[in-house]
Amino acid sequence: MPSVGIIGLGNMGRGMALSLKRGGHAVIGFDAAAETRLKLAQEGIEIAGDIEAVCARAEIVILSLPTASIVETVVAGEGGVAAHGKPGLLVVDTSTSHPETTRKLAQLLASKEIALIDAPVSGGPKGALAGTMTMVIGGTDGDVARAMPVLESMSAKRVHIGPVGAGHATKIINNLLCAAHLLTAAEAVRLAKASGIDPERMLDGINAGSGRSGVTQVNYPTWIFNDAFDSGFTMKLMRKDVRLATELIDGLGLSLPLASETARLWAKSAETIGDAEDFNRIVEL
Ligand code: NAD
Repeated sequence: MPSVGIIGLGNMGRGMALSLKRGGHAVIGFDAAAETRLKLAQEGIEIAGDIEAVCARAEIVILSLPTASIVETVVAGEGGVAAHGKPGLLVVDTSTSHPETTRKLAQLLASKEIALIDAPVSGGPKGALAGTMTMVIGGTDGDVARAMPVLESMSAKRVHIGPVGAGHATKIINNLLCAAHLLTAAEAVRLAKASGIDPERMLDGINAGSGRSGVTQVNYPTWIFNDAFDSGFTMKLMRKDVRLATELIDGLGLSLPLASETARLWAKSAETIGDAEDFNRIVEL
């Protein structure tokens, strides 16, 4: 079993670290936040003092970081993975990041004989902790095969999409759809209420028909109708993902009207729904 380093031990990284340990891997973690390091140490995860110490011990280094620019700092910045990783190291970026950043970092790392694959995830903190996430993967066949024992300890389903960056592009497209589905499902619920129909029964009917989506099947029953709003995925992160989608679309010179309207509404939500709120709160916009 390869020894695994994890950089970023937040909502997702914590669950991944604990799943990997349960799966029999030697795990060493690092997080920028002292209180997170302490919490994970109390949960039995070995904690490194910096990225250099992670690179010294791990054959595979997983990243679970908030944004593409933080991924860039951790990989290419001073004291980062490119500076300290040994030839032969494999980096697995599970963050939701920008495919262009990913390709650029893969090139930089390749010049140091370090490989990178992108394997962004779905399933939330619960899926990370249970080892049941879904991964969409970008990378060479050889690198993906090398990472497989580690990926299998964290996920129930893996789809290898294409070369480096393809996983991140797919994840952004997925989250753009989820962001749009939250808005369309919220309109459907409003329409049902105005029509005098019980919204929960309405969604039961939709979920047996062709209008269903992940939002109608999972988000509404799990986090919205019961007022729980505790998915572990924040407004801040989803707004970031919608911005990433806009950057991807603009960068390709495409005009996608529904994507534009989705981006406009998610940007507007910042006026009334705070960054730390659950992303499902968008239905209250
Ligand atoms: P989070 O904010 O809970 O965790 C990120 C962690 O990274 C934090 O603990 C933070 O201290 C650490 N960090 C920040 N800068 C760092 C640095 N320079 N060096 C080391 N550590 C640093 O975020 P999360 O919810 O765990 O999400 C992580 C990634 O996974 C994001 O890209 C997110 O979009 C994606 N994602 C999240 C979910 C979810 O449900 N939360 C689901 C799928 C994908």
